[in-house]
Amino acid sequence: MRIILFGAPGSGKGTQGDILGKRTGFPRISTGDLLRLAVRERTPLGLRAEAAMAEGRLVSDEIVEGLVRDRIAAADCRAGYILDGFPRTVVQAEALAAMDGARPEIVIGIEVDPEVLVERLSGRRVCPSCQAVYNLSAQPPARPGVCDGCGAALVQRPDDAAEVVRTRIAVYLRETAPLKDYYRRKSVYRPVDARGTIDEIARAIALVLDPKTAGRTPA
Ligand code: AMP
Repeated sequence: MRIILFGAPGSGKGTQGDILGKRTGFPRISTGDLLRLAVRERTPLGLRAEAAMAEGRLVSDEIVEGLVRDRIAAADCRAGYILDGFPRTVVQAEALAAMDGARPEIVIGIEVDPEVLVERLSGRRVCPSCQAVYNLSAQPPARPGVCDGCGAALVQRPDDAAEVVRTRIAVYLRETAPLKDYYRRKSVYRPVDARGTIDEIARAIALVLDPKTAGRTPA
């Protein structure tokens, strides 16, 4: 089973991916996280990706496809995996089908009003040490500016700055939004309304995936 979390930057894919990962036992694979790690570690791939990420543009299909191909070959992906932030273009979707086409897939479309995205992204704070993600309004840390988990000082992702966010949303609308029709045509697209609390959205996703077990307490 492959679950693709599809939605604009700021739609809550990462948060929902973590919840879903705990619930299903499937690893969440975020191409954004893999790329940020490569940039932090100054690997050759990270150095190639860095400028596009800083400007809010897409990294080349070839780079992200390679990352995903290697990651889904790992043993922990055998039963299933959750993709967050990939595919982002029709070319990437076709590459995914070519690398792992036989696996059944479902695409959870987290549908959010574009108007709220800038506000949501500008309120996001991340922990540079353990990578935990917060939101100043929806999911604030217990102590302002401090990570609940490890106590490090929270920071804003450089690409969450207002001018970069505008580019990211424009790129999403131009390059990624057309994928919705691509997956609708394959009859695997399931929309979920992103209004509501994190728990409400998690329940809506669980219901879409498995109406029989949606009420079960997450593991
Ligand atoms: P995210 O954490 O998913 O918002 O991704 C952060 C940045 O990483 C994006 O703005 C892109 O520059 C890059 N990125 C992540 N996933 C992809 C992808 N599938 N294709 C191209 N670029 C990506």
